Amino acid sequence: MEEKLTHLITIFVSIVAAITVAALFYFPDLHIEAVEAARLKAQKEAEQSANMTGLEMLDYNTNNAKKNDEKDAFTQQLRIELPPGVKKDDVTVEDNYVTQTILITIPDADEEYLYDYPMIGRSDHIDNLIYECHKNQGVLEIALDGVFEIEKSFEGSYLYLDFLTPQELYDKVVVIDAGHGGKASGAVKQGIYEKDIDLAIVKQLKAIMDADTEHNIGVYYTRTDDSNPDFDERVQLANKAHANLFISIHNNSTKSGRFSSISGTAVMYDEQKEDEQLGTKHLAEICLDEVTSALGSINKGLVPGNEIYIIRTSEVPVALIEVGFMTNQQELDNLNSEEYQKQAATGIYHAILRAIEEGY
Ligand SMILES: [Zn+2]
Repeated sequence: MEEKLTHLITIFVSIVAAITVAALFYFPDLHIEAVEAARLKAQKEAEQSANMTGLEMLDYNTNNAKKNDEKDAFTQQLRIELPPGVKKDDVTVEDNYVTQTILITIPDADEEYLYDYPMIGRSDHIDNLIYECHKNQGVLEIALDGVFEIEKSFEGSYLYLDFLTPQELYDKVVVIDAGHGGKASGAVKQGIYEKDIDLAIVKQLKAIMDADTEHNIGVYYTRTDDSNPDFDERVQLANKAHANLFISIHNNSTKSGRFSSISGTAVMYDEQKEDEQLGTKHLAEICLDEVTSALGSINKGLVPGNEIYIIRTSEVPVALIEVGFMTNQQELDNLNSEEYQKQAATGIYHAILRAIEEGY
């Protein structure tokens, strides 16, 4: 009985062996085709990743990382791997609020950097991601869909970035706009440029806001130098930061541009939204009241300003302060003095605090 079974097994094994030999004889390419298919697949994937945009590559790497259970390895928005030898102090992260872009500069990061050191993370607030290499220094430009504060941390060779909304960091958010800038000088009287007076007042205001440790107010400035962001960038900073207040600072001239006895402070608001509770009109009233009392200037009243782009398109309460008249000799002299600029800034600061107290 046992002998018979052994015999049957021997026959069975021989048949299987014969079929295998026959199969290999008739289809010798089976094995080679499988290898070739794998090679083609790898090549296709490499070609695809070579044509990917930075953002697509982020998603691609993140999806691959997910398969390897790396997705929960960090809670931040982005993880960037640094090339060997690059230390955290060598890396700069610059947050440009006005254009909502982050610039990350990484030394020794050549053109292949993004391929060699895949970045992973969540792309939900990223509109675009561009990588460029200049003189062996890699610059990663990330365009965001809103105003975020960047929180960076390092662990080993990884740089982690987290995007925080202004509201996650501050009780209230204010956007301050210094009028004009760069080639746009505004009014020019006796060699004095409006853009410079507007900026000088904003810088005094910034000094006061920076020194205020009592209130947790996040302040974003459309400019703190002689740059000239376009009107849309200015208003979008306020809209995208979901600011509680948007205050623009300018100075006035007579229509003809001639010197006259007319002087004083005026504030523009959006008359199309004047019925809004705690809206543009009441904010303008507060600004007018506080600035005229700080300066002792003449109250020239509220002025409808819906035809002004940044007023019309502001989605947050807006006021445009015309601090004084550059076409009045005495007021021009005042506006050009540091003391008066400081007083104007103090008035605007009081207006901000009062507006917040009133519930803006
Ligand atoms: Zn102006």
